[in-house]
Amino acid sequence: MILRNEGIAHAWRRDLVSSSRADLLIGTRFVTPLSAASTILEMAGVSFTLGEESIRPARIAALFAEPLPFRSFDLGVLRSRPGWERAFASTIGDLEAARQSPTTLRSSTDLRCLDIAELWSRLDTVAGGSWTAARALIEAARLLAADPECWLFSGPCLTEVNGHETAAYAAFVTAVPAITFAHIELRPRRTVHAQRTRLLFGEVESTVLATCAQTERGLLAAFLFAPPDEIAASDRPRSAGIDDTVHFEEHAGIEEELDATVSWVISEVADRGTPLEQIGIVVPRIDPYASLLAHRFQCLGPDSVHTVGGAAATSGAGARLATILKALTSYLHIDEMCDVLPILELSNKEANVSRRDAIALLYELGTAGGSAVHPEGALDWAVRRTHREAAITAALADSSTEANVERQTWTLRCNLTLLGALDQPLAALDRAARTLIAGGTLQEQWRDLQHLGAHHVRLGGDGKRVLASIDAAIAPLIAANVLSGEAALEAILGTLEAMRLPVGRFGEPRVTIVSLTDAVGLSFQAVRVMGLAEGAVPSNIREDPVLPDTARTALGPMVRTSTDRTLGQLHALHRIVLTTSKRIVLSTSRMGADGGYREPSGVLIEAAAAVSRAPMGTNDIFIPDAQLMRRTAWEPGRAHLRQMRERWPIDARSSLVRASRGGGIPSSWRHDPLLPFARIPIGPSPSIADGWFPAGAFTELPGLSTERPISASALGQFLECPHRFLYERVLGWHPPPELVEEGTIDALSYGSLFHETAEQFYRSHGAAFCNKAQPLEFWQSLANEIADRRFEGFLESYPLVGSDVRAAQRARLRRDLRSLLETDWAIAKSFVDVERSFGPMELTIGGAPVHVRGFIDRIDTMGATTLVRDLKTGRAKPREKADDLRPSYDVQLGLYGLVTRAKAAEWGVPAAIQGSYVYPADPSGDERSFIDDFDDLATVTQQWIGTAIGMLQQRRFPRTPIEADCHFCSFKPVCGANARARARDLVASSEEVRAFAVMKLGEDEDE
Ligand code: SF4
Repeated sequence: MILRNEGIAHAWRRDLVSSSRADLLIGTRFVTPLSAASTILEMAGVSFTLGEESIRPARIAALFAEPLPFRSFDLGVLRSRPGWERAFASTIGDLEAARQSPTTLRSSTDLRCLDIAELWSRLDTVAGGSWTAARALIEAARLLAADPECWLFSGPCLTEVNGHETAAYAAFVTAVPAITFAHIELRPRRTVHAQRTRLLFGEVESTVLATCAQTERGLLAAFLFAPPDEIAASDRPRSAGIDDTVHFEEHAGIEEELDATVSWVISEVADRGTPLEQIGIVVPRIDPYASLLAHRFQCLGPDSVHTVGGAAATSGAGARLATILKALTSYLHIDEMCDVLPILELSNKEANVSRRDAIALLYELGTAGGSAVHPEGALDWAVRRTHREAAITAALADSSTEANVERQTWTLRCNLTLLGALDQPLAALDRAARTLIAGGTLQEQWRDLQHLGAHHVRLGGDGKRVLASIDAAIAPLIAANVLSGEAALEAILGTLEAMRLPVGRFGEPRVTIVSLTDAVGLSFQAVRVMGLAEGAVPSNIREDPVLPDTARTALGPMVRTSTDRTLGQLHALHRIVLTTSKRIVLSTSRMGADGGYREPSGVLIEAAAAVSRAPMGTNDIFIPDAQLMRRTAWEPGRAHLRQMRERWPIDARSSLVRASRGGGIPSSWRHDPLLPFARIPIGPSPSIADGWFPAGAFTELPGLSTERPISASALGQFLECPHRFLYERVLGWHPPPELVEEGTIDALSYGSLFHETAEQFYRSHGAAFCNKAQPLEFWQSLANEIADRRFEGFLESYPLVGSDVRAAQRARLRRDLRSLLETDWAIAKSFVDVERSFGPMELTIGGAPVHVRGFIDRIDTMGATTLVRDLKTGRAKPREKADDLRPSYDVQLGLYGLVTRAKAAEWGVPAAIQGSYVYPADPSGDERSFIDDFDDLATVTQQWIGTAIGMLQQRRFPRTPIEADCHFCSFKPVCGANARARARDLVASSEEVRAFAVMKLGEDEDE
């Protein structure tokens, strides 16, 4: 028997054994056409190697560089736009499989064909004995036609054909002596296809597979894609009711469809006893379904699925290798490097780099790496690592002079450890980048990458397999020695992305995941066809950009067009339905893997019409409309799925659904101390889920003890949203780190830079400046020097690329500092201190102790008062009127004033306080001032702090009832859309948080 692949051979063996005809296997050999053709050629002494398909694009790219005498294609476009080499390779592959040749193309009047003929003949010359599979079949067919004795076996031979085979395939099998063609009648019928089948194989008798019209599956097999008159025939059999042999499912998104697939497989095995190897999952394309499904099926065990080839790039090792390759193609740009660092194998095995650490560390190295316009930047990383390591070592030796020694030392030591651990991996990356920049050959670059992958990247269990597979796949390309530089690196990445890694084998007890066209020839008891959406099945018609359908049609019926591919998919679907023996599910999802909205495929309507559930078949209703599809297909499918899920919940969500329907809470949840179900009653009263925590053991909260003082910014956050405070300051959750836009400094870093620069100026010259010992211009020029020095230091640990960008940011720092000096110059005062630290210290507010700590930006004295100021680098927020008080914002200045008042004697300043926010970066020059009414601010600040501390003591962390507070919060998806409405009800009705409710909602609303 000649079969397309080993999987089909196994299906034949299994079906013969299960139908008690194992005797037929005695003496029967199963061969694939390519292995038979290769053996025939080798026996005839023909010298050749296979694999030319993978080298062709590279050869074509090299040929494009030559002055080809093209008459239709613009060589300039082909050279400058990527992808044309692959498009030409694909077209020539199609033409070769259709038994065209440069000679036949030259007889065409189409200029495109003449150009292709020219390129193809040059390709053949450079390829020599390197052949494609089609070429091997054609050459073997020639040998067989000339001498049938070359055939390997003496007995009769059988092969199944369907008319979708290539002319090269047909030439080979028709040359085999004593061959019989089996042809199964498939729908939809097309005259053109029947003619093509005759041309390929001659007159072949078609077999109509028997179907049983007693079941819905039988009806589906018998009437799928049948002509309208057969569908509408009054005397044809129709569904007698849902009998569990056919189900239709419509899902909201692909995630739901994937989960439903796992539930279905569990139900097949557990409820019906279907063996795993008799379950098939058919997908429109193997990517991304195979890897997504394989991941989902982990819940059934690591060996539960078999796929004829999941994308290697989506396996653990493949994805990591792809990350390294993409980083190298970007010349180790910082955007890619923050994904690379977490997967490197560090010299210190205990060290670990999260993405957050990676971003912080890369910023510290003060470079953005390389790019297409500046490849050499890729070599900065290793140099900067050494430089930074030395700088931190020196800083650690000197750290005793810093005010916040402990924390700084700890951070520096951590960074030093990571930098040391990155030494070897960064050196290996640097080597690979050097080879790339030097235009290294494919062999040289692959050698560096293999070393990197084997020793410095955490590739995981399948790392060796992925590396070995790529090594084998690119061996012909390396031997051809036609690629170097970026093209070589892209070829490795392209090979990885195109490579498939088979998982498991046919015959093993695993669920089979297979693409629609690869499923032809396989048979299962239960099949689920997924992804039946418009544009997927049948797939959108995509014309070949090199030789469109009109030009292909002119070359004869053997040259396949996009319409042939569409028909092939429909025939494949009908073939699967015919050979599924027990149950079939046809499913679709409204949203695809790309997040795009999709309509269900028309084949689902045809399938529903074939099954014809009531009321179809009456009142002239034969084809379901949207309403009928919902009633007769989607709703029964949903009910069936719901039952399956309730019987076999596969994940926490299904278990929750089951629990909510009274199906019981899993016992493992009830006994898990991290899931205190009894303590989370969701009802009208506030619960833990709302931030109301009961008495009992609890973590130490900020502000309640000397060991854990609270800062002004933490108080501000609590007053804005106690629940966010809970997430960030108590639970330690933080939004994922993000890289800032290139060419800017993020707000936090700029704020720190500005504060440090201002501190340096005032610490050295604050007293003299305030005494106006020199004119303003003098101080401004001094400030410029300090700003420049500080900015240079900042660049050591911040990736700001380009001299223009750096100059602009330096000018910004100078301008803001100058502006601060100008504002400051206008006020007569005596300098006291800058960045004055306080705490941990205890303030008594409302009779209760509050533990605080922090830094006050500026303290000066003005006669009998002390002026406390806070510098802000954002937009000015001047007070519109006297009662413009913002708890979450003004609590900071209020606290600083209260602390200064409490420490007045110790610090030697007047206890009468004035306060102000200063905005040097805002051109308006506005301030937010509490010069005349600081006492009012102090009074409300005490109330605000008292409210916050009271709630902390009671462990009440309600969500904010104010929508605007959530605008920039990353926890919006966690809280949900109805959070504010519920928070409003809870805080308004709870006596415990009454003061908070009044502060947020005002007296009236609270009542
Ligand atoms: S989304 Fe709103 S309610 Fe939820 S934590 Fe953030 S600020 Fe609070």
